[in-house]
Amino acid sequence: MSHRVLTLNDIKPILLAILNADGGEHEAALEDITDRIIASYVTTANTAIHDYDLEIRSTLDQRDRTRIYALVNTASDELTQLATTHSADEIAFFKRVLDYMFDTNNTPAAEIMAVSDFDALRLNKNPHAAEGTQSQSQAQSGLTKIQAEEALAGFVEEGWLERSEAGWFSLTSRALMELASYLTQTYNVAADESDSDEGGGTRSGAVVERIKQCYGCKEIITVGLRCQTRACNFRLHDSCANQYYRAQRGEKECPTCGAAWTGRDLVGEGAAARRRQSGAGPANRRQSGASSRGARRSTLTQVRLAPRRVQEDVQEEEDMDAEGESE
Ligand SMILES: [Zn+2]
Ligand SMILES: [Zn+2]
Repeated sequence: MSHRVLTLNDIKPILLAILNADGGEHEAALEDITDRIIASYVTTANTAIHDYDLEIRSTLDQRDRTRIYALVNTASDELTQLATTHSADEIAFFKRVLDYMFDTNNTPAAEIMAVSDFDALRLNKNPHAAEGTQSQSQAQSGLTKIQAEEALAGFVEEGWLERSEAGWFSLTSRALMELASYLTQTYNVAADESDSDEGGGTRSGAVVERIKQCYGCKEIITVGLRCQTRACNFRLHDSCANQYYRAQRGEKECPTCGAAWTGRDLVGEGAAARRRQSGAGPANRRQSGASSRGARRSTLTQVRLAPRRVQEDVQEEEDMDAEGESE
């Protein structure tokens, strides 16, 4: 299971071995394996495995645009596969991590769509169990900090999450491919439907598009560039932006709203750094409809606005709190 994703460089030697397996006179060489040949093999393979609810899908890595291939289970894309290797508590934790990425950390002011390792670990407990409200069919209390740390490491190893050098977890290309429909169904909902507890009624009925597509390649974008207009949905991956604006002369502008294209308004973990600089974060976070408690929100604000040193202080407080609660 270690090869969850194959790149072109992985696939070419495999196809070469298959092509040469008949021991025929003509030995194919690596350079004979063109994209067209690969595409035709993928199509043939997909016809053969269709009845087993399997499909080879491909996508481009959002950053370096490498084409990657993955075998995807088309019958159960909604986190079902996680259930075979993870406990209910771990899956619930994974969903809280997703909520944090695509709801809490995904506002008109800052589309981070990632979660810092610090914040991710704080999602270890099941808030419903802790508050004793709306007890779910499976009474889950959540994970200990150590269990959460291990679960995160597991999700990284299995190819669901990747962790940046700066310590941000985000979904891998593979996970985006597999969870695309889950993400749009879960987070692109009418403002009324979302679990907002703070007056989402102002935009009643309108679908809030939290999961957005790149205008260039039409795939989900979680890392890249955005229009500076907060209400505008125009997004481009870095390389898609290069392509799109290469042909344009003069002032670059957003084709959707006409605002000047800055090329500096980021989507992804880079959006967190900019938000810190501008100080535009906390007030706008309230629009996200995240069901965080007041205390937690103020702590998070401190963390976001302060350097690492303060995070450690907050961590100590948190640990003391946790000890108090467990007694
Ligand atoms: Zn794109
Ligand atoms: Zn725009």
